[in-house]
Amino acid sequence: MEDTIFAEATARGRAGVAIIRVSGPRARVAAAALAGTLPEPHRAALRTFRSGDDLIDHGLLILFPEGASFTGEEVVEFHVHGSLAITRALLEALGRIEGLRPAAPGEFTRRALLNGRLDLAQVEGLSDLIAAETEAQRKQAIRVFSGELGGKVGMWRKDLVEIAAHVEALIDFSDEDVPATLPEALIARLDGVRESLEAALRGSAAAERIREGFEVAIIGAPNVGKSSLLNHLAGREAAIVSDVPGTTRDVIEVRLELAGLPVTLLDTAGLHEPGDEIERIGIERARARAEAADLRLILLEHDGELPEGVMPDPDDLIVITKTDLTEQPPVHGIGISSRTGAGIDRLLSAIGERLSAKAAGASLVTTQRQRHAVSEALRSIEAAQQFVSRVDEHPEILAEHLRGAITALEMLIGKVDVEHLLDDIFSRFCIGK
Ligand code: GDP
Repeated sequence: MEDTIFAEATARGRAGVAIIRVSGPRARVAAAALAGTLPEPHRAALRTFRSGDDLIDHGLLILFPEGASFTGEEVVEFHVHGSLAITRALLEALGRIEGLRPAAPGEFTRRALLNGRLDLAQVEGLSDLIAAETEAQRKQAIRVFSGELGGKVGMWRKDLVEIAAHVEALIDFSDEDVPATLPEALIARLDGVRESLEAALRGSAAAERIREGFEVAIIGAPNVGKSSLLNHLAGREAAIVSDVPGTTRDVIEVRLELAGLPVTLLDTAGLHEPGDEIERIGIERARARAEAADLRLILLEHDGELPEGVMPDPDDLIVITKTDLTEQPPVHGIGISSRTGAGIDRLLSAIGERLSAKAAGASLVTTQRQRHAVSEALRSIEAAQQFVSRVDEHPEILAEHLRGAITALEMLIGKVDVEHLLDDIFSRFCIGK
């Protein structure tokens, strides 16, 4: 029999309400031990929670029967006042009940997966939903958590299973007078699956950026005003601003939300001739990060020139700094003053527009694990397609590739062979989820 597990589902600390969740075969027993009589399933009822003679708190008790709860097991929830002392007393009281033990991180969700309440993509969606900080992250995660990716995988899988079944039949009846060809309609469906997988893969880079954040690098010569811009945008002293060239030696990061998207701004060390070894390393790192960034802001003073080695690409934004020092408007680029704040809004909307364009093609394939599974499926389908026209010669090879594609898709949603991945996935969860 499974252990019955318990944990605080809400964040620790002082709050109006704290929720403690218990899941497993002895959940009801635990609730009865602390509350006496039990309410009707799914109905919150006010109860007094006691451990022996000790009155712990008055609060709500909710009972979810087996098969109709988050984990699929019998679940009870205690809604108590959110004080450290109350939750501690309640958790200790639960720990004294036989057959109950504290939950490991993500253990409730793990049980939901094992009981088929969620597929593995939904589990990842839930993890992202809890971690979501921006609008775009929330919207993406809720779609994955709602099972949209699992639904798509189900359709791809169904097509592949039907095609595979046809091929298996050709193998079984190869001695008989059945024409050894695949119907055109099935060949077209295989092509359709391949196209959708390709589209999902194309959109995965953008989806991953939404999940992890877009990087925007601020680059330019020493003293051009990089740190000042970063500080202005961050609204706090994140980088040291000084008149001595080359003070920002490392890459400094500030995370913010722009147009609903998560953005990490990088202030790179001044791109100039290095004075010493430490500076050289800083400059190398800055270059590499800037190269890899999703968007680069190239800062120039009014009459300045591009720093050596910097080749703007069409996506980069040219930003002219310190416009408060001159009367002349900039001939090209976006003029800003970190001192007065002039032009900053325009710069932010330009950044937002460029990143939104990059985010627009996002698919539901949001994690590296999912992308890997989709690529595997795609590779197998491409291999299968080589044999479609020669199905009479090598039906078993075609069948093998189709099975490979099906397995890859099943791994995506956690239907097969994912035991080894679970510890890694659930280690990212908090206790109580
Ligand atoms: P970085 O080396 O590119 O990071 O440049 P800093 O941000 O450290 O700025 C170098 C100098 O230019 C500092 O003295 C800043 O106060 C000054 N500075 C930065 N932005 C502005 C601005 O918008 N207007 C004026 N007048 N001075 C600025």
